[in-house]
Amino acid sequence: MTTTRLMVWIDQDLCTGDGICEEIAPEVFEGRDDGLWVVKEEAKHFESAIVFDAESGDGHGPDGSRGVARVPDSLIEDVIESAEECPGECIMIEPYDQATLDARDG
Ligand code: SF4
Repeated sequence: MTTTRLMVWIDQDLCTGDGICEEIAPEVFEGRDDGLWVVKEEAKHFESAIVFDAESGDGHGPDGSRGVARVPDSLIEDVIESAEECPGECIMIEPYDQATLDARDG
């Protein structure tokens, strides 16, 4: 079972679309068709794969502040580096919170 102490989301209104985040942490960040970046949870870390790209259907979730992805503890340093390097300053990192997860999935 993957342990997680942090969660991450992207404010797409500020994303410049350079993709630096995915270069540093490809298991957490992914480019979307509109040229902006989103966060995701991969099945290798959690029970199922989900991309927070605001598409409908299984395997998709909301974007923006409602699309909060859990960060595997093994990727914390990469996610923090991504946030530090992000030119849009739009990668938001929060402590893990079950209530946030429930609101996301509810
Ligand atoms: S590093 Fe920041 S600005 Fe660049 S694509 Fe990722 S979220 Fe967007």
